[in-house]
Amino acid sequence: MSSLNLKQTAIKAFDAAGTKLLSPPMNGFGYFINHGPRNKRKVALTFDDGPSRPATEHLLEAMRKLDVKGTFFCLGVNVRYHPDLLLQMYQEGHVIGNHSGWHSRKTGLMLGSDIRHILDGEQAIAEVLGVRPCFYRPPWGWLTPWEGKRLTKAGYKVIGWDVYTLDWVIPEVDGITLARDAYRDTKPGSIYCFHDAKPWEKQWVKTETTRAIQALVPMLREQGYEFVTVAELLDVPAYAATREVST
Ligand SMILES: [Zn+2]
Repeated sequence: MSSLNLKQTAIKAFDAAGTKLLSPPMNGFGYFINHGPRNKRKVALTFDDGPSRPATEHLLEAMRKLDVKGTFFCLGVNVRYHPDLLLQMYQEGHVIGNHSGWHSRKTGLMLGSDIRHILDGEQAIAEVLGVRPCFYRPPWGWLTPWEGKRLTKAGYKVIGWDVYTLDWVIPEVDGITLARDAYRDTKPGSIYCFHDAKPWEKQWVKTETTRAIQALVPMLREQGYEFVTVAELLDVPAYAATREVST
């Protein structure tokens, strides 16, 4: 095995172990909220890594036509590319959550009290909306207990998922397959993890997530499910007053 292959194999093993140990639905050390009440047919669509163009625009248009609201975990760097799209999401009734400033796994793994990665994402959003988000989803879904503690101390609820989709894979997985997989895994109170963009990509074409939503929403509505934001699902506020931060 060449040293490059060895390195790639080691990275893959590290990724797999990290995901198994730190990601929903199994873990989170008590800090992850992975679903809402199981006794009501209410579910929440969530989207990570945006916004980007035209991917987020197409998704927002489809959601407007379906009359469905979602929760978008936005990335500081992408928010600064497209503040107008962030504002549009907010004005159209979607909920905005924080997905960190720049999508680094390392920041959540590090011990100590450095929360610049959290505050950077928060500030990018607060500058546009005039409020700060109360929901956070860690990049890669990786959450250490000390990061959970830091987030809680900073006033965040950490939102995981119980329905995971492979809509981030490149080339894209067919939207109908994504919708069928998500439908199969749905329970009352489910939170879905989708992606409307790619971190650090200002321009991004992404068609299959939108197709998946267009297929999934009517299928579940037929079964009596209602689509709500994470705030509505958990019955907690989505935003708080902005705060002075020095980063
Ligand atoms: Zn992400």
